[in-house]
Amino acid sequence: MPHTYSLSPIGEIDSPFKEKFGIPRQPGLCNAALGSIKLYGDANNEMAVKDLTQHSHIWLLFLFHQNLEQGWKPSVRPPRLGGNQKTGVFATRSTFRPNGIGMSAVKLLGVRQSGQQWFVDVQGVDLLDGTPVVDIKPYIPYSDKIEQAHSDMADSAPTQSLNVVFCKQAQTQLNQYQKVTNNQYPHLEQLISQVLQQDPRPSYKQNKPDDKIYGIRLYDINIRWQVTNNRCDVLAIELDNE
Ligand code: SAM
Repeated sequence: MPHTYSLSPIGEIDSPFKEKFGIPRQPGLCNAALGSIKLYGDANNEMAVKDLTQHSHIWLLFLFHQNLEQGWKPSVRPPRLGGNQKTGVFATRSTFRPNGIGMSAVKLLGVRQSGQQWFVDVQGVDLLDGTPVVDIKPYIPYSDKIEQAHSDMADSAPTQSLNVVFCKQAQTQLNQYQKVTNNQYPHLEQLISQVLQQDPRPSYKQNKPDDKIYGIRLYDINIRWQVTNNRCDVLAIELDNE
């Protein structure tokens, strides 16, 4: 048997996504999804992040911590293939994989210090809130961007795009929330729209009549929504504990 190695997170991400449902399937699909990596221990050091901002984008290497206990299997059924076709785990970005490691290239917004704490601010995240980050590396265009690269399985971003409409009640609740929180998340309306445009419902529910009312949690709010044909109605925006 090969050696076992252990990893210690260098930080954890603060992201709007409080549950897996609704998180974009890859980074960069929702530019209103902002995240902040809070650095731990020896990584929480000015020198560790020195010159990081020379790079416009960075790779986040992280653990799919919420799935680790469930283990992995050599074959998976990726949503990209409709959720019912089997393929090899290494041919996919499945979150159930040996060692549970995820990787996302995200836009670097900046590095900041608050008291003794250092943060790395990023845009376009696809990570659950609290995800342990095990490393940060710069995205190096001359090597990471491969012009001739193609993927027969996933050559372009998912095409499913719903028309998101806020009903009167939801718009009023959103305005009220922005007022009470002093516009804490100015990009919130955009985030809700971008997340729902992608139709987070499981593949078997899509393109079929569906009268279910769904909920998604972003930051400390719960969003209720429903899909009719190609239209997604945002019905209500409530505080999570309401
Ligand atoms: N870009 C990464 C990659 O390719 O390794 C992640 C792709 S994976 C398909 C994206 C999904 O991972 C999200 O939609 C979300 O459901 C799930 N996810 C994100 N953070 C997670 C975590 N900490 N634990 C388990 N699942 C997570």
